[in-house]
Amino acid sequence: MEKVRITFLGGLGDIGRNCAAIETQSQILILDCGQLFPDEFMPGANSVLPDLTYLLDRKEKIVGCITTHAHEDHIGALPYLLEHVELPIYGSSFTLGMVKNRLEERQLLDRCDLIEVNDGEKISIGEFACEFLPVTHSVPSGLISAIETPQGLIVHSSDFKLDLDPIDGRLTDLNRIAELSKNPGIRLLLCDSTNSDMPGSTISESDIGASLASAFQSHKDNRIIAACFASHIHRVEQIAETAINDGRKISTLGLSMKKNLSLARKLGILEIREEHIVDIEDIRNLPPNEVCIISTGTQAEPRSALAMASTGESRWISIGEQDSVILSSRAIPGNEERVGRMINNLMRRGASVLHADHLGLHTSGHGKQEELRALHQAANPEWFVPVHGEYRHLVAHKDLAIEIGLSPERILLATDGDQVELGDNKLELIEKVTPGDYPFVQGRILEHEHHIFSDRRILGKEGCVIASVQICTKENRVLGDPSIVSKGWVNTQTAQRLENEISHAVKEGVEKALLNEEASNEYLEQRVRRVTGGLVNELTGRRPMIVPIVRKV
Ligand SMILES: [Zn+2]
Ligand SMILES: [Zn+2]
Repeated sequence: MEKVRITFLGGLGDIGRNCAAIETQSQILILDCGQLFPDEFMPGANSVLPDLTYLLDRKEKIVGCITTHAHEDHIGALPYLLEHVELPIYGSSFTLGMVKNRLEERQLLDRCDLIEVNDGEKISIGEFACEFLPVTHSVPSGLISAIETPQGLIVHSSDFKLDLDPIDGRLTDLNRIAELSKNPGIRLLLCDSTNSDMPGSTISESDIGASLASAFQSHKDNRIIAACFASHIHRVEQIAETAINDGRKISTLGLSMKKNLSLARKLGILEIREEHIVDIEDIRNLPPNEVCIISTGTQAEPRSALAMASTGESRWISIGEQDSVILSSRAIPGNEERVGRMINNLMRRGASVLHADHLGLHTSGHGKQEELRALHQAANPEWFVPVHGEYRHLVAHKDLAIEIGLSPERILLATDGDQVELGDNKLELIEKVTPGDYPFVQGRILEHEHHIFSDRRILGKEGCVIASVQICTKENRVLGDPSIVSKGWVNTQTAQRLENEISHAVKEGVEKALLNEEASNEYLEQRVRRVTGGLVNELTGRRPMIVPIVRKV
């Protein structure tokens, strides 16, 4: 039979920018197109994207993109894909609502058809017959995709947990997975690895309700500001319900919270009656114990609603002793320090803060080992590739699958950029299709050059010293004293003192170099860099960035 290739363009080795391409000889079906939020090694970047070159080189083969759920790491890079390719996008009504909001902001809605699929629905996307099954996660309406290919059925778990008591009663359809595993059989399983190194099961979203109620109870007289992810509609629902039961009105803080709430209410996923909602501008007319503000900013992102409130920069609320802040979330690894700082700031303003360390205010959207085990047992796949995880999670997931009974030869550990091929009797690694340096976005610019970050790290830690020399070509000598300017290097007084010393040394060094008649600009710049860098290091024990400028007049 015709072989099928699966190319992992992101999401394997890092959590984020999930994107895979399922490909036959004539067609490509894309599975998610997400972004990754950069860590401290990429200072200044706003977002990291999958390397879409492989797809753009095969534009004519693309038949569509499935969006498994509405998280940014699955839909956030769609605008960048749509700038180059027009294609239909498939997903649940909520996922597509979120996609639509994002594309509207970028004026890209006319570049795609948004095709809604329902739980259990079967449709064909090009030559791929697809079936979509409900799955529980930390965003509503996630979908497992079962994709029929010339090499049989490929099942993608989407991000999932097996919540036995989901807020909307919409259970993960493990029964259908088990049916598919018997007939026609699952050739390949691609499964979420995020919590694969954690034993046990993730607690149900419904369990959070009781903890929220007791948190509200113990802060009865205060205004409550409860923060959670804006896409976590079921969490918002539980906060809203608790607040309403406590006699409070609901207000939202943060644009994405406002937008997502209105989308979820419009789609009937979230029911909050109009009479319980009050605009943030009007809360000042209510006593603190009658208000609950549902806010974004759990990760203390610099311009987010809660971070701004914590430093007194919010135009909507001012934090004080009347406030209790509930962080119904966990700090994503890498954000802990920032979140800690925000908590300190909130407390300095007099607020009491309850966060994830206080038991039961948050639960993960990803299943732990017991849940992965249950999915594997239902799917009983012939081949397995762990997806959605850092490398350690992929390895833990592989170990778990072996422990359940899958033979190690049937598991392939792939990472970003790897292309694998499913044939009649095997699944094998073919090649790496991307070099690994991912495109990233900063401001309005899409960049590829990662050396910018090593420059920024030096500038951030050590500052810079600019040494500028003018040379009179006619007389072959240095004109005046070289100018030395520094930023972020040492205190102003020391800088001024050392700048003079450096200026003399540079002048002397360049004049010596000019004795060599053939001294090129490049050679002179190198000379200036060496003299400046050497002296700077000798005088201060620091290694700032040295910028030499040689101008011949
Ligand atoms: Zn994800
Ligand atoms: Zn997710």
